[in-house]
Amino acid sequence: MASVEDIRNLVSEVIDPELGKSLSALRMVRDVQVSADAVTVAIELPTPAYPGSDRLKTLVTEKITSSLADGQSLSVDITSTVRGKDAGGRIGLKIHNIIAVGSGKGGVGKSTVAAALACGLHSFGCRVGLMDADVYGPSIPHMMGASGQPGAAEHQGGDGQKLLRMEPIDVDGLKLMSMGFFIEEGQSVVWRGPMLHKALTQFLKDSDWGELDYLIIDLPPGTGDVSLTLSQQVGLAGAVIVCTPQQVALLDAIKAVDMYQKVNVPVLGFVENMTGDIFGRGGARKVAEQLDLPFLGEVPIDASIREYGDAGKMMALLTEENPARDSLLAVCQNIAMQIARNLTDAPAAPTLEIL
Ligand code: ADP
Repeated sequence: MASVEDIRNLVSEVIDPELGKSLSALRMVRDVQVSADAVTVAIELPTPAYPGSDRLKTLVTEKITSSLADGQSLSVDITSTVRGKDAGGRIGLKIHNIIAVGSGKGGVGKSTVAAALACGLHSFGCRVGLMDADVYGPSIPHMMGASGQPGAAEHQGGDGQKLLRMEPIDVDGLKLMSMGFFIEEGQSVVWRGPMLHKALTQFLKDSDWGELDYLIIDLPPGTGDVSLTLSQQVGLAGAVIVCTPQQVALLDAIKAVDMYQKVNVPVLGFVENMTGDIFGRGGARKVAEQLDLPFLGEVPIDASIREYGDAGKMMALLTEENPARDSLLAVCQNIAMQIARNLTDAPAAPTLEIL
């Protein structure tokens, strides 16, 4: 009969089909148990949004089957735990991964993609927060069907001091904060740099996010200073750049990449939004290839995206049957997996001190 060590060695050699490394290198073998009548293998995925768990289960099963003794059953149990840089720990946040969603210019569907990313990751079972930092057009509360004003609650600080923290609005368990909650509808706000910096800092630090796997931040379009502000406070898991297939928008996106690289924010890759007859297709993939950056998927131009968003039903867009859902979920999975990939490729990056 094979020993625990034999089985563990076999499982460790399996190459993860998504990440291309052995399960031991990825630290995904959580437990192995062997008894006279059963072998149990516990595998831990790096995210609930992992797209190929059935395939992985088959690979593990195939690897072990011939080592099973007569009458020994096999069970492969799969769970997931999101890992991250946990860089927010410095300012008291328990957030594993912070993802900034940006674009070179407005109107490309950046807020839509940011909200869909949050809702999609939430639908996979991740703990998610969504911070709408697009002070120039905070559209996320409307898309999420959220209204009202976040309350404030008293918290005990680490040093015994009492702190007042804003309570994010709860949307089916997703935690939402937006500048829109503090601005009258239709009122325009002109933010000067320092004010924006301060508002964002406060939003991030003084909100009671609790423990999160992912915090998605919808950035104002084309703002280098904002991502600089963020990267000085927390180690971002990275930035996602949204663009349409049009040439002009792509040039803007290239500028955005340059900007993120200048402020040391890793670029997770490009999402092409509004792919279809009107704008064409494939431009973002080509640019991603040219810049040697990941392409994170394309989202078709589809009326259901606008309709669900307008109706404040973003969460339903990711959970109900509709023509855009699969491509949106695939984008969420690609982003979660790109973060997992970056974590296994490189040790945690140092975080800059708070200014
Ligand atoms: P941005 O944040 O880049 O300014 P928004 O996310 O607010 O852009 O989107 C602008 C408009 O385009 C919204 O009305 C939204 O519903 C619509 N939209 C975004 N993406 C799509 C898409 N893939 N198909 C159809 N409409 C879309």
